[in-house]
Amino acid sequence: MNVPLLDLKAQYDPIRKQVMAAIERVFDSHAFILGPTVREFEERIASYCEVECAVGVSSGTDALLVSLMALGVGPGDEVITTPYSFFATAGCIARVGAKPVFVDIDPVTYNIDPARIEEAITPRTRAILPVHLYGQCAEMEPILEIAASHDLPVVEDAAQAIGAQYRDGRQAGGMGTLGCFSFFPSKNLGGLGDGGMVLTNDTELADRVRTLRAHGGKPKYYHKLIGGNFRLDALQAAVLNVKLDYLDGWTAKRQNNARRYAALFAESGLIEEAGPKLPEAVYEKSGVSRYHIYNQFVIRVADRDRLQASLQQAGITTALYYPVPFHLQECFESLGHREGDFPEAERAAKQTLALPVYPELSNRQQEAVVESIRASKAANAVVKPRPVVAGFPTGGSTI
Ligand SMILES: *Cc1c(COP(=O)(O)O)cnc(C)c1O
Repeated sequence: MNVPLLDLKAQYDPIRKQVMAAIERVFDSHAFILGPTVREFEERIASYCEVECAVGVSSGTDALLVSLMALGVGPGDEVITTPYSFFATAGCIARVGAKPVFVDIDPVTYNIDPARIEEAITPRTRAILPVHLYGQCAEMEPILEIAASHDLPVVEDAAQAIGAQYRDGRQAGGMGTLGCFSFFPSKNLGGLGDGGMVLTNDTELADRVRTLRAHGGKPKYYHKLIGGNFRLDALQAAVLNVKLDYLDGWTAKRQNNARRYAALFAESGLIEEAGPKLPEAVYEKSGVSRYHIYNQFVIRVADRDRLQASLQQAGITTALYYPVPFHLQECFESLGHREGDFPEAERAAKQTLALPVYPELSNRQQEAVVESIRASKAANAVVKPRPVVAGFPTGGSTI
């Protein structure tokens, strides 16, 4: 059975008329750069995430870049982050001239391990940049505590995590000094191209981001700052405005799919001693709960490459996020890292595999995925699973 990793046709077919009408409104208004459509979308995202300010920008990458620029991070500075994420996380730190300082991940959530952050702080540290990988929040409480005790700002890379929550419903992107979203088409809220957003409760920082996204001129043509062209297109904002109404419903479907995977894996006997390790969804760990929005459903298997190849043969598309951790990337060679420096990130890079979890995935397709994993010999050469998945999210709206 053919199971794609993502099916954008299935997502757009039911909302095609609405999306086209929104595009036509922008087309007829000729207000293509910023203007009321972008403003409306910014206000709606700010209220969705319960923050004061949201500034639409050209991509998730530019959201990170302009956030670091607004904080004044530059040459000679260090920014603490994870070695295991999409490239933009570390790339943006280097692009402002600062040094990315990596801290290994928690092998259960794949997010930065807060217990190792303190020892990475030096007098040059200027910010902490956690990522909410795959749609599950990093352990923000200790991260925010450490940051506060060293007077450091926190920039959340929430590119994969719009709608994810942490403790008592605190929103991904709304907990740090600045939060960054991406509207890349494969994110849970995706546009028809690139787009991003910076969130903050600090009106002065929001102002700087707004100024920097239009070359740093304020008033126009008078530059105290050097910015760039980091604007969100009105056309993207119009499409995203339509799609935002559906986000919670889509999230609920992703969560249902995650729950169904867990049940199917359990039935097939695959998460006994020697099965693939499932993502540890919302789980209780000293009272910490996470509301996972499953941008990706990632399992851990020792013989990952063989399993991926056999699934591909069965028509099932999976993905590797991410095969090479930052500290082993050629472009960061000058940082002087070696294999073994961040063992958990290295293991994750070798063992993780993302299965299709998109909202429109059918029961039959999911059964086919799990059946193909069971049938594959590769699934038996596995990593011993960690303690049982304790629970899955029950919140969110249902459809
Ligand atoms: C997608 C992504 C980005 C970059 O977003 P773009 O909109 O593609 O520029 C940054 N960080 C993470 C973790 C991402 O997944």
